[in-house]
Amino acid sequence: MSSTPVRSEAMPSGRPLGARLERVYETLLRRNPGEEEFLRAVREVLEVVEPVVERRPEYVEAGLLERICEPERQIIFRVPWSDDRGEVHVNRGYRVEFSSALGPYKGGLRFDASVNASIVKFLAFEQVFKNALTGMPIGGGKGGSDFDPKGRSDAEVMRFCQSFMTELHRHIGDRTDVPAGDIGVGQRELGYLFGQYKRLTNRYESGVLTGKGISWGGAQVRREATGYGCAYFVEEMLRTRGTSLAGREVVVSGSGNVAIYAVEKVAQLGGKVVACSDSEGVVHDPAGIDVELLKQVKEVERARLTAYAERRGPTATHRPGGDIWAIPCTVALPCATQNELDGKDAAKLVRSGVVAVAEGANMPCTAAAVQTFQEADVAFAPGKAANAGGVATSALEMQQNASRDSWTFEYTEERLVEIMREIHAACHDTAAAYGAPGNYVLGANIAGLTRVADAMLALGLV
Ligand code: NDP
Repeated sequence: MSSTPVRSEAMPSGRPLGARLERVYETLLRRNPGEEEFLRAVREVLEVVEPVVERRPEYVEAGLLERICEPERQIIFRVPWSDDRGEVHVNRGYRVEFSSALGPYKGGLRFDASVNASIVKFLAFEQVFKNALTGMPIGGGKGGSDFDPKGRSDAEVMRFCQSFMTELHRHIGDRTDVPAGDIGVGQRELGYLFGQYKRLTNRYESGVLTGKGISWGGAQVRREATGYGCAYFVEEMLRTRGTSLAGREVVVSGSGNVAIYAVEKVAQLGGKVVACSDSEGVVHDPAGIDVELLKQVKEVERARLTAYAERRGPTATHRPGGDIWAIPCTVALPCATQNELDGKDAAKLVRSGVVAVAEGANMPCTAAAVQTFQEADVAFAPGKAANAGGVATSALEMQQNASRDSWTFEYTEERLVEIMREIHAACHDTAAAYGAPGNYVLGANIAGLTRVADAMLALGLV
């Protein structure tokens, strides 16, 4: 289901905006027709900024709201390549450089058939606030292509990546724009992309990409960071409610980079992950997912989850097309893709007693799902806070590249834990300061927005 159609309920809640904000949104509707994901992401922010605007009228005077919703630059390009039989394919490449107020544009590349202008723009917009929340000096961007690496040979993936970088290289640089991985872009793809960048520029500029392999400029913990960070964020949310992950049954959707390391860290923190999934089905493993087997199947062999169930033995069952959110749990971590958990799924989770939900993926919960969780007083963490550990560790990778240094796994993980605690505190405290204690969506949006907006104010009308 990686090309999941956007459900209508994925659209914004439609809560009324003040006249000024409504005008901003109308301009967006006119300029970005049909771009549902992008429009929802912006609307979610606009719906919570009213009280900020009241406290900070200088934001309005400086036209910040209009500027913050318009990307600084959007690049769309042709990516021609030939497959192993010599047949020519033409894909479309994107890079949306949304905001450089806090640092170089920073955000991943996604290779998936579903990629389009709306999805890249929504991801880039979210990235601006996520990166601001980390407190690190990074702006926001995102890119990708409608190329699907699944089922392609290594040689085909390499030719595609080389063609993609042949255009992208003129737009990026360690002080300009620093891409990383995302869905469909792991270390294999990043290696081919970096190799072509190095060849074209004749520069070993390690800081131009993050998520690199350890032997060629990568950082410890980057691979684990998004999933680990998400589990740490949940632990913090539960701690504020006087409880923890220990002894809890947890469901994690997906079985890619984010999901695998969320499963690993939940187990290390004493929880038990009883199910995970891919776009074809669900594995239910009441004895607890065996993360080493999961890594072997998904990372080493690039096989499907059916192989996990076959080798795991009687404890695990694979359900083709199964419904992961129907499996009882008290913590749910959607870590696959956007709009994978809707209002009905949320209602099922609430009925089964869920107490915390954190978005490992970007916008996996529809607007209706978020509302259901909030009404049921479930601790709900939006992706821009819960999955910010990945980009924060990318910023640590950039620091190491700039100083030609490399840190140990233990030290880097300590930094990650500290960053996730600070992000949690920023969201938690901002929500309370704006009269909405426990509302992490409001807290994350306002805390991220004010950091970006203050920098933009200082930099003048640019
Ligand atoms: P991967 O490509 O490594 O994994 C994606 C996983 O999700 C795969 O197991 C895929 O299955 C599965 N999947 C896709 N669609 C569905 C679906 N509809 N239902 C169930 N499973 C599905 O990507 P990542 O783990 O890197 O990224 C996952 C999410 O996390 C994305 O939203 C991404 O933007 C976000 N994210 C990633 C970060 C990172 O550091 N990697 C950082 C922050 C956010 P299949 O193999 O069948 O396609």
